[in-house]
Amino acid sequence: MVQDTASALFGVEGLRVCEVEAEADGSVTVWVTTDHLGAASCPECGTGAGRVHEYVLTRPRDLRRGLDEVTVCWLKRRWKCGKPDCPRQTFTERLPQIPPRCRLTGRLRELAGAEVAGRGVTPAEAGRWHQVSWPVAHQAFIEQAEPQLAAPAAPVAHLGIDEHRRGRPRWRTDEQTGEYAVLADRWHTCFFDLSGDQALLGQVEGRTADDTAYWLAQQPAAWRDAVQVVAIDMCSIYASAVRRMLPDAVLVVDLFHVVQLAVKAVGDARRRVVRRRYGRRGRCGDPEYGVKTLLTRNLEHLSPAQFAKVMDTLGGSRDGQEILAAWIAKEKLRDVLSLRARVTGSAPCQRAVRDRLFTFYDWCTRHDDIPELASLAKTIARWEDELVAAVLTGVTNAKSESLNRIAKLEARNAYSFRNPASQRRRVRMACIRRSRQVTRRRSLLVTSRKHDPG
Ligand SMILES: [Zn+2]
Repeated sequence: MVQDTASALFGVEGLRVCEVEAEADGSVTVWVTTDHLGAASCPECGTGAGRVHEYVLTRPRDLRRGLDEVTVCWLKRRWKCGKPDCPRQTFTERLPQIPPRCRLTGRLRELAGAEVAGRGVTPAEAGRWHQVSWPVAHQAFIEQAEPQLAAPAAPVAHLGIDEHRRGRPRWRTDEQTGEYAVLADRWHTCFFDLSGDQALLGQVEGRTADDTAYWLAQQPAAWRDAVQVVAIDMCSIYASAVRRMLPDAVLVVDLFHVVQLAVKAVGDARRRVVRRRYGRRGRCGDPEYGVKTLLTRNLEHLSPAQFAKVMDTLGGSRDGQEILAAWIAKEKLRDVLSLRARVTGSAPCQRAVRDRLFTFYDWCTRHDDIPELASLAKTIARWEDELVAAVLTGVTNAKSESLNRIAKLEARNAYSFRNPASQRRRVRMACIRRSRQVTRRRSLLVTSRKHDPG
C-alpha cells in the first residue's frame, strides 16, 4: 500500500494523517482517519459495512516524537452492519495496531516492553517515560520475555553452578533471651553455560542439594548426559547434588576460591601472630602491618625491592617466620594452579599436578604447628580430585561470578524484588541480553513521492 509522506512518517499502518498541530511547548497533535480495507468489516459476521452510523473521537496513547509528547486524535467511524439480521448492529473501525477498547498503540506497548527486556530499564521507569502504568509496562515486558525464556536450553558442555542472596536476611529478636534469630535468608541457585553463549540457563529458589538436584532433574536426560564438566565453588552441597544427578560429569572447583582460601589463611596467621606478640590487633607502624598487602599479592608480581622488604621484615624473628611459612604455603599452592594450560601454554599432565600438590602438603606437614596451614591442607585434601580436575581441564566459574554481579545489579536497580518469579525473569533477561538479537527490521514501501533533488 502506498501512503502519503506525513502518514508514512507517522508510521501506523492503516491510519492516514489529516492534520498536524504543533503547540508552542513542543507537543504535537496528530489528527488521523482510518485508511485500511479490513477496518470496515463486521467483527460478528464479516460482512462489509453498510453506512456510517456516527463518528467517534478516540485518543490512543502513542510514542513520543523525540522528547515531545504526541497526542493522537483518531476520528473513527461507527458503521452500521451491512447484513440486516446481524445481531451486531453497529461496530467501530479496528486496526491491528489499535484493537477496540485499547488505550495504547501496539508499538507503544512493544517499546515499553523492549526497554525493560532489551535495555535493562525498570518497568517503573519505562512506564514513567511512556506515561503508562507499572502493570502495563510489566505485562508488556512479560509478553516479550516469556517466549525467549521458555525455549529449552541447548546442550551445555561446561556447566557452572553458583548462588546469590535474594535481598537481605531478616532477623527477629527472641522475646525471652533477647538474641537475634534468622527469620528469612533467601537464596537463588543459578545454572550457567560456561562454554557457550546461553549465559544464565535457569534459577531455582533455595540453595540446598535438593533444590539444585530438582532443577537438574527437570532437564531432559539427553541434556544431562551432554554435560561434561561442572564448576562449583568449594561447596559440598552442590557437589552432592551434582554427583547425584550428573554422575558422569567431571566436578571441578573454582580456582579463584582456592587461592582466596590460601590468602585468607596467610591473613589469619598474621593476625594471630600479631595478637600473640603485642597483645592487641595490628596497627599502622607495626612491621607486620607494613607488609600485609604485599602478602596478598602474587609472588611474581612483587618487585625485587618489595620481595626484599617482606623477607627483611619477617625473616628476622620467629614470629615473622611463622607468617612467612604461611605465605610460602600459599605460593606452593599457587604453583599447583600455575600448571594450567592457560598459564603454561601446554596441556598439564596429572602426575606433575599431583607432584606439586605433594610439595604443598609436605610444606604444611613440616609446619603443622601453624593451625591455619593444618586446616588449609585439610580443606585442600578434601577437594583434591576436584582441584586437580580444574587444573587439568582449565574450567573456572569466573563467568558465573560475573553474571552474578549482573543479577545483583538488577536487584539494586529494582530496589529489590518482592516477587521471586519476577526477579528470576528480570535477572535472566539481563544475563542473556548480550547474546540476544534485539534489533528488528521491517521493509515497507511508504511514500508515493520520489525524491527529487531539483
Ligand atoms: Zn454483522
